[in-house]
Amino acid sequence: MMYEELRNEVYEMNMELFNEGLVVWTGGNVSGLAAEKGHIVIKPSGVPFKKLSPQNMVVTDLNGSVVEGDLAPSVDLPVHIYIYKHRPDVRGISHTHSPYATSFALLGQPIPAALSPIVHLLGSEVPCSRYAQAAYEDTGKAIIEAAGEKGLVVLVQRHGVFTMGKTPNESVKIATQVEEAARTIHYAMQRGKVEPMPDDEIKRCYDFYHANYGQEKH
Ligand SMILES: [Zn+2]
Repeated sequence: MMYEELRNEVYEMNMELFNEGLVVWTGGNVSGLAAEKGHIVIKPSGVPFKKLSPQNMVVTDLNGSVVEGDLAPSVDLPVHIYIYKHRPDVRGISHTHSPYATSFALLGQPIPAALSPIVHLLGSEVPCSRYAQAAYEDTGKAIIEAAGEKGLVVLVQRHGVFTMGKTPNESVKIATQVEEAARTIHYAMQRGKVEPMPDDEIKRCYDFYHANYGQEKH
């Protein structure tokens, strides 16, 4: 079987979305890119999370044809393909309808850069894209328009959250933290006005986090 390691990671990260409560039933998906061959490992369509396994992840090429697997890939595959084709830095993508972040998407609002932890991680607000046709390349286009060359997360208007990372793991980490920030900001908005942090402090937080956080030597 191809891509044993990537299959395991994509499977585990799909389960992480489920275990963190970011998706329900068969919703949401994670994929990973095997960049050397231009292959994508993605969750199959319409299979309950409890029935997923590393073996039933689907391998496709960047034209959407199945390379290995008996099941049909996630219907969001065209969106993942568009992002991988237009963002060479991205090797993992997650998609959820996690409710607090998606409530901002429903209103067409960004999640403001107001809360220190998420500002450290992203260094910006979470932008909201235009409305786009779900499961079509159009959604990928809307995401790239909103994310530009560096953005790692976009709310798609009236739909949900797409996150991008250097690995599937990183994309799920961002999805989890964006939902937590959206929930906290939502609560704060019930009791007062939420103001974004000043631009220079946003930059300082981002630079500090990316120079110092974790166990790696930078
Ligand atoms: Zn969706």
